Amino acid sequence: MTTQAHPAPQYVRVAVERGIDRYPDGLTYRVDAAIGAVVLGDHIEVPLGRGDSRVEGVVVATGGPELLDRNLDPKNVKAILGVDRSQRALPETVVRLAQWISSYYCAPLGVTLMSITPSAVRKGVGSVRRLLVDLASPQPAGTLHPKRRAVIDTLSERAPSERPVDAEELRELCGLATRAPIQALIKSGHLTASHRSQVQARWKAEATPEASPPQPTNEQAAVLSAIEPCLAAGFSQHLLFGVTGSGKTEVYLRLAQRVLESGRSVLFLVPEIALTPQTCSRISARLPMHPMAILHSGLTQAQRHEQWLASAQTRATIVVGARSAVFAPIPEGVLGLVIVDEEHDSSYKQDQAPRYHGRDVAIRRAQLAKCPVLLGSATPSLESWWNATSRGLSSLHTLKQRAPGLRNPRVEIIDFRVESRLRPDRRVHLVGPTMELALRRAFDDGGQAIVLLNRRGYANWIACPDQACGWMMRCDHCEVGMVVHLRSPEGGALRTTRCHHCQAQQKVPTRCPRCSKGVSVFGLGTQRVEEELSRLFPDIASSGGIVRVDSDTMSTASDFHRALGGFARGEVRLLLGTQMIAKGLDYPNVRVVGVISADTALNLPDFRASERTFQLVSQVSGRCGRGDNPGRAIIQTFQPDAAPILAAAAQNYARFAKEECAIRERYGLPPATRMARIVVRHAVRDEAERVAKRLSADLTRVDAAREIEVRGPAPCPIARIADRWRFQIELIAPTAAILQRMLAASRSAGILVPGETVAVDVDPVALL
Ligand code: ADP
Ligand code: ZN
Ligand code: ZN
Repeated sequence: MTTQAHPAPQYVRVAVERGIDRYPDGLTYRVDAAIGAVVLGDHIEVPLGRGDSRVEGVVVATGGPELLDRNLDPKNVKAILGVDRSQRALPETVVRLAQWISSYYCAPLGVTLMSITPSAVRKGVGSVRRLLVDLASPQPAGTLHPKRRAVIDTLSERAPSERPVDAEELRELCGLATRAPIQALIKSGHLTASHRSQVQARWKAEATPEASPPQPTNEQAAVLSAIEPCLAAGFSQHLLFGVTGSGKTEVYLRLAQRVLESGRSVLFLVPEIALTPQTCSRISARLPMHPMAILHSGLTQAQRHEQWLASAQTRATIVVGARSAVFAPIPEGVLGLVIVDEEHDSSYKQDQAPRYHGRDVAIRRAQLAKCPVLLGSATPSLESWWNATSRGLSSLHTLKQRAPGLRNPRVEIIDFRVESRLRPDRRVHLVGPTMELALRRAFDDGGQAIVLLNRRGYANWIACPDQACGWMMRCDHCEVGMVVHLRSPEGGALRTTRCHHCQAQQKVPTRCPRCSKGVSVFGLGTQRVEEELSRLFPDIASSGGIVRVDSDTMSTASDFHRALGGFARGEVRLLLGTQMIAKGLDYPNVRVVGVISADTALNLPDFRASERTFQLVSQVSGRCGRGDNPGRAIIQTFQPDAAPILAAAAQNYARFAKEECAIRERYGLPPATRMARIVVRHAVRDEAERVAKRLSADLTRVDAAREIEVRGPAPCPIARIADRWRFQIELIAPTAAILQRMLAASRSAGILVPGETVAVDVDPVALL
């Protein structure tokens, strides 16, 4: 916790919860003496606006009259209403981090600060007031009733450092039926009473004790000895590039152990869906002496609150979590290492304001905490690769070999133009003969398999078969096609259509509304693959051996954990799903990994399409070959010659990265440049366009030195979502600093006002 140099600050700068963008750093309020001390990071209540409505806020600066704007009369400065003492003040680094996010990602500071603290913590979910008692000194004279005497004796046996004691615990220790004797002793002045808020929902990862950690391989040892000297040397940035199964986690664990043993904390970020019990128990099995806090969406509100407090009070020194765990309230000076596993994963990017990238915030946090940050991946993002290889911003460490006992999977590219013609019947098949045979062999040998298709639902085209008519079913609210879903797995005939962008649903029409011909349903989705696999492997399907994992079947984290548990125990033979199953899974019995269509990502109108395709194919291929059997990865595609597919098959990241970076450089795209994407949204199409045009002209004027390329406005690839028309402007700058300068100038001039209509996305990851 931060302490103030001067006893009672007269003024504070406050970021309020409301979405107003008071750039750069909040509103000034007076602190009256009656309120007591207010420190940076405190949660407070202030009056806002003409009606002085009560709103929540966070203190982002404390001080004297220097906080007053020059043109502000001290008489007009309002006083804060109160401090929420039930919440701890945010650590200074976390406040600084929020300020950085607000400025870098163009998000209002108040919104950013509020989104940093889980709502369970803000609302105090699960928190109870505990009574604590201690011996009063001196003890009043006189004899005591035996029950009361026993209480005093029990307490006296405790070392002073282990007091005060929870009254409830004391009651149990003394074998008392009620707390009446304790209450009486407080009244008679024998005991002193105090209170503490405590969150009770304990949550513990199940740990399977590890026999003995493996001896590091030569490669691992080399990486360790390169990074270890940096552990106590302030900020440094490292990229660990290691093929899947090369033992990156082993490296993380050894470094984490070093840091923990030196008495500091470790922040360990993983993509949300990699937060499996498998990952957590592996960490706690290796580091049983170091309590762990876990922050993810599968916890109850009270558990989340408890885990948050555990990291604030350093009862837990290793904090594991998804994106938002980067804000864990680890106190000043305690954080010793930040790890970002699977740093390329797009789930690190938040898709609503503040649109931050968890990896980049993690780097910033390490800078503020003056400790090293280690990013790891088998397929690093080109941004991280560029930083390590072209800009010297981070050191590159490489693990080329898979860990002892693991073999490289055999990656086979299947030309689906050929395979789809091999079937004797005229039906459309999603699983070609090669994949079918490989799966059959794997199952016959008692093995398991993973099949991936990155698209939910049953089929994604509903259209008139008559090309002259050309009708296609579109969402009423978005400029996209509807997707057919089977309503329930059993009632296969019951079908509905859904929009994947606004969740609208409609019935599947039987006839074309324009020409009354019977409609066709085609395209692909995981439900359809499930149907086909069940037809191909009826014995396995009927015993529940095929499980589909996508966001339709997995509504909570525990659904996902349950499915993986079944797979780990071998009850599930085939996992089929979207990219949820492409990462982090480590099961030795997986013999075959199938990709139904490597083309789904490749054809998106997004400059990262190649990069995503490469990542997906490489990551999923890495899921096999973990046992003694090398395993086969079978990749179906209509574009077998596409560069990312060939590079992924050859398992050659470096070649892919070199070629792709050259292309990005040629077209002036990140990572060679920096981009901000501005999307203007409005219910009236012309209005959206008008605002976007004016904004684009204003932005061009701000950039007097012509350092920035302003592209657009143009309709977004998805021109309307949920009844709002969308126009985009892309800003492309040679460096982040130039981009930041321009964004800041536009915000303080009131040209760029992020909010309902205008969404700003700095370093965008998705461009639809
Ligand atoms: P990655 O994180 O790169 O995918 P892991 O750390 O999960 O790789 O390692 C893959 C497997 O190899 C794990 O089962 C791990 O226990 C094992 N392993 C890692 N390093 C070694 C080593 N030095 N000796 C033996 N086994 C190892
Ligand atoms: Zn829609
Ligand atoms: Zn028609």
